[in-house]
Amino acid sequence: MVLNKPLGLYIHIPFCKQRCSYCDFNSHSGLEDLYDQYIKSICVEIEKSVQEQTTFSEVVSIYFGGGTPSILPTHCLEKILTTCSSLFRVSERAEITIEANPETITREKLKKLKTAGFNRLSIGAQSFDDELLKILGRKHSSKEVNKCYSYAREVGFDNINLDLIFGIPEQTIGCWNDTLEKTVGLGPDHISAYGLEVHQETVLCKQIDDGLFKVSEEDIQADMYLNCITFLSDKRMIQYELSNFAKPGKECKHNLLYWRNENYLGFGAGAHSHIDNLRFKNADNPISYIKKLKTGQDVSEKYEELSDSIALSETIFLNLRLIDGINLEEFEAKFGFKLHDVYSRQIDDLVKKELLVYHPPSGAGGENLRLTKKGLLLANQVFAEFIPD
Ligand code: SF4
Repeated sequence: MVLNKPLGLYIHIPFCKQRCSYCDFNSHSGLEDLYDQYIKSICVEIEKSVQEQTTFSEVVSIYFGGGTPSILPTHCLEKILTTCSSLFRVSERAEITIEANPETITREKLKKLKTAGFNRLSIGAQSFDDELLKILGRKHSSKEVNKCYSYAREVGFDNINLDLIFGIPEQTIGCWNDTLEKTVGLGPDHISAYGLEVHQETVLCKQIDDGLFKVSEEDIQADMYLNCITFLSDKRMIQYELSNFAKPGKECKHNLLYWRNENYLGFGAGAHSHIDNLRFKNADNPISYIKKLKTGQDVSEKYEELSDSIALSETIFLNLRLIDGINLEEFEAKFGFKLHDVYSRQIDDLVKKELLVYHPPSGAGGENLRLTKKGLLLANQVFAEFIPD
């Protein structure tokens, strides 16, 4: 495998103390006995992956996601990070993120994580309303979010994200505005705000079906989203992606690799990788994942070689998630033809409907095509126009 582009590494930790009511991620509770074997397996997977490479790209980001990565003892997280740093060519300026849930954090633990090399902390705050946190089945209170945040600043984290959810059953626009005020009051460097999606077979879905809670109406969610954009932009948090806001220079490097359709390698159960036009995914179940590595089997279950048309449309969707949108000159340089050569009818139509707009770029040369405010609300409708026949 020849890699010569910036590379991101993703490490999946699929363990949580207890499942939240809305969760449909690849996460499991009650598997504490597996932690040691799982860590060993991830390190083996990283070593194998490095052996398969013929040239090394520079690693610009390492992201520990979950699940709840902060549930693991610090020495386990450190072991994985050291394995990455010793085997890959990791940039001195690499962004190294760990997701943390407030109930798993102590000041001491954060200090050790900082010393181990993590330089970005992503805190799963979700809301500053304790009743709503209970509806979500979260295991922390708003007070614990505040504590976790202060500890992080005290030990020297200067790049902190807070994750928020809006559109929670029973959440009013007033509650949401209050959460936004409290979030900004802390002064985070980055905020991710996602509308709640209720997935089949989750506890929350059953509770809604049983009439315990009412699902949030679509236009209320839309108002919450628009409030969020206006409020955060007034506070100089710049929206750079559909759901992500940052102080200048604090945009998440790792997620930018995804939205720019760049290369990343995922390690751990269910982790996805994307290298040039090849996409692959590991076994979801942590027990099968460990077993496969122990017995020398290939841990990836799904390989997909992307056709040119799929690679093209994925690049369009992902780039359009970014507020700057698609830079038309860069697009032409990358693909060897103009975006309009393939999609002029769709683009003209979306521009007429005021869902897309041309815009002078912020930095790169040429013109950008990006979502309008109306387009941000109807992004899926826009993306659907670029699905190949
Ligand atoms: S902390 Fe995240 S991954 Fe874990 S159960 Fe809750 S929503 Fe799922």
